[in-house]
Amino acid sequence: MTLISGSQVAEKVLAECQRGIAALKARGVTPGLAVVLVGDDPASRAYVRSKDKKCRDLGLYSVKLELPATTTQQELLDVVAKLNADPAIHGILVQSPPPKHIDEAAIVRAIDPAKDVDGFHPVNVAKLALEDPTGFVPCTPLGCQRLLIDAGIETKGAHAVVIGRSMIVGKPMAMLLMAKGPGGDATVTVAHSRTRDLAAITREADIIIAAIGRPSFVKAEHVKQGAVVIDVGINRVEDLGSEKGYKLVGDVAFDEVAPKCRAITPVPGGVGPMTIAMLMANTVKACQQSLG
Ligand code: NAD
Repeated sequence: MTLISGSQVAEKVLAECQRGIAALKARGVTPGLAVVLVGDDPASRAYVRSKDKKCRDLGLYSVKLELPATTTQQELLDVVAKLNADPAIHGILVQSPPPKHIDEAAIVRAIDPAKDVDGFHPVNVAKLALEDPTGFVPCTPLGCQRLLIDAGIETKGAHAVVIGRSMIVGKPMAMLLMAKGPGGDATVTVAHSRTRDLAAITREADIIIAAIGRPSFVKAEHVKQGAVVIDVGINRVEDLGSEKGYKLVGDVAFDEVAPKCRAITPVPGGVGPMTIAMLMANTVKACQQSLG
């Protein structure tokens, strides 16, 4: 069984970013990322902080806007419009989820698609479906695909089962796996909360991508011998033995599933570090594309 280290592959992606940033700086341009947080959700705040830090470590120009929970839809739209017009900003990300009174879909649609490094704008969703390489692909599934490629997992002709159909992970993951080319050309099944007899389907899979949001949901009975398992899940479960009182686990019951696998990602240290690395890569790409 191979443990696919997201931390190691993320380092590789970040090194590539550094080379891209150096080349852009030599042309007089520094890629800039603006991360907007509305409200004070602690998990979102931690994500935003780590994105900001990673930008700075890499030498990207980083703007972190922390807006109060009382920010109105119009105020947020105004912030987005300002960032759209700012030539120093090449990537814009509004941290999800915003407070309930904000219409998130409308905010996403207001972001200039050329700066939508999260890949959530309808133009970028369409570009993914059209296999147009100028589009931006959501960072988490893009990171999963990169992990498969780097680990030497052949996706061509493989049966991949994606569990989950969210716009952030499941759907774009399925599109990437079925697209033509490296990390694609798979036969893809998408399973979700209404799927009947999930285990019968996942047992047919050469590759399982678990993006469910339920701790340790995928058990040994779901996995055939020799399968590759990518665990996207990040779930907090109580752990009274730890200082924080909780620990992070994936959507896969690692201890019972790993022995059956040809390769598997751990949680933490799997998909998580890839997501932020791909965000940096998308920002560098946005900057490169802005230069024409
Ligand atoms: P989501 O809640 O939007 O989607 C969950 C999906 O799981 C849904 O499509 C649903 O149909 C499916 N599902 C729910 N119960 C099911 C069941 N019993 N059987 C089959 N399918 C079922 O979640 P999401 O945003 O796609 O995130 C999924 C997981 O990935 C979460 O744990 C989240 O924390 C994690 N995540 C991690 C990263 C990362 O950087 N590693 C990024 C995004 C999300």
